[in-house]
Amino acid sequence: MLIVMKFGGTSVGSAERIAEAARLAVDAAGKGHRVVVVTSAMSKVTDLLVDAAHTASRGKWDPAVRQQLLERHRQAVETLCAGNAADRDQVIAQIETQLDRFEKLCFGLSMVHELTPRLLDAISGTGELLAAPLVAAAIRAAGRPSSPVDATEVIVTTEQFGGAEPLPEPTAAKAAARLHPLIERGEIPVVTGFIGATADGVLTTLGRGGSDYSASILGAALDAGEVWIWTDVNGVMTANPSEVADARSMAEISYSEASELAYYGAKVLHYKTILPAFRKRIPVRILNSFNPAHPGTRVSVEGDTSTPGVKAVTSIRKVSLIAISGTGMQGIPGIVAKAFDVVAEQQANVLMISQASSENNICFVISSSEAPRVVRALRTALEVELLRGHIEEIADQAVAVVAAVGDRMRGTPGIAATVFGALGSSGINVIAISQGSSERNISLVVGEDHAAEAVRALHRAFHLDRAPVPVG
Ligand code: ADP
Ligand code: ASP
Ligand code: MG
Repeated sequence: MLIVMKFGGTSVGSAERIAEAARLAVDAAGKGHRVVVVTSAMSKVTDLLVDAAHTASRGKWDPAVRQQLLERHRQAVETLCAGNAADRDQVIAQIETQLDRFEKLCFGLSMVHELTPRLLDAISGTGELLAAPLVAAAIRAAGRPSSPVDATEVIVTTEQFGGAEPLPEPTAAKAAARLHPLIERGEIPVVTGFIGATADGVLTTLGRGGSDYSASILGAALDAGEVWIWTDVNGVMTANPSEVADARSMAEISYSEASELAYYGAKVLHYKTILPAFRKRIPVRILNSFNPAHPGTRVSVEGDTSTPGVKAVTSIRKVSLIAISGTGMQGIPGIVAKAFDVVAEQQANVLMISQASSENNICFVISSSEAPRVVRALRTALEVELLRGHIEEIADQAVAVVAAVGDRMRGTPGIAATVFGALGSSGINVIAISQGSSERNISLVVGEDHAAEAVRALHRAFHLDRAPVPVG
């Protein structure tokens, strides 16, 4: 079977972690699988690159950043290539080449002071280009031929810098041409996650956390048998384990549950990861590189059909609730349409929508970074309605969205009552609520400060700390 294996930032965060990642890839190859590795940047490197870009755009370029990146990667190379000076020198040369490019970009930026999304991608994508040669060297040291592959030669994307979308057909053609010869030679290619390139070859990124997405894009492009996401927790859990101490790992979930959880804030998977794998029905596993014996989570078509009701609780932070309200809105056609035209023009992604049945208020949730611009545009587009008093107010408020997710919530009575009961008895005010017609998700808007407590209250109320009792 062909397995595309992705290693996240913490899984390649040091020489020891990279050696372990290499061992996991080589082990699978030893069992007769063909393996393609996708690597993230070493942990925290992307943040550092993004900061460097913003600092440079303010006219400051600090050469210490280059030195810091060089030291971190060089130390790892020294350990990974101990005893093989030729390999060490070759990898260090590859790293220096990437750092030269990074330095030139930042230096240029510090002169022109204009950080475009395109330039930010070129800079922030450097982390994966630095990591791939290290992971390939570790695989060679573990006994298998391996070489780094720059995903700009493989993944063809749209020009939406900062959140590019893959173009499946050219990507499949390039992936086959670039990777199949290596795989057929018995190599384990190491492809840079997070990045791709436009048809003209300009580097793009798939959005923060996008290496998971790279893995499923490549899995689909290569018709892989499975996609394995190696991370730092035991798979997809009933809640974020850093927020809910007794969160449990789920052995099996469906594609729809996985994408719902990812979309509603479970950082363990980038929110677009599931789609390419789902289209080709490729099973996805989420595994813990710090605890590889744990079976993790398998994502499949059916999921675990024996568990009724809510399976997991998530939260999305740094979002804002935009509310358009006024008693005069009732019966005036087109206000909702106008409002959403504005949101679409501003290219803001709407996470949830809710309208009270009185029609006196429509509200929706978008990322806080987009809120000021959307509110400004709404006030301009709805100026006449505001003047006439049909709309009294367009307001925004920093909030959090908490979501309860499960395929079999449909047809399970009493879920909403449990949700409100749990939040009510914890003294948490629900600002807005929305349930998709799929009945796979109930999302609630709560005050930012109440998010963690709301997640814990729901986790407790649905007894998610305990293994589910199978039903029918
Ligand atoms: P990687 O670097 O491997 O991509 P991430 O930090 O992006 O790892 O994602 C893993 C993290 O996701 C976990 O350490 C955990 O804190 C967080 N997380 C949030 N929600 C969940 C969840 N429901 N299940 C598992 N992990 C979650
Ligand atoms: N390195 C990128 C990030 O930190 C992509 C990833 O790790 O998935 O966002
Ligand atoms: Mg991640």
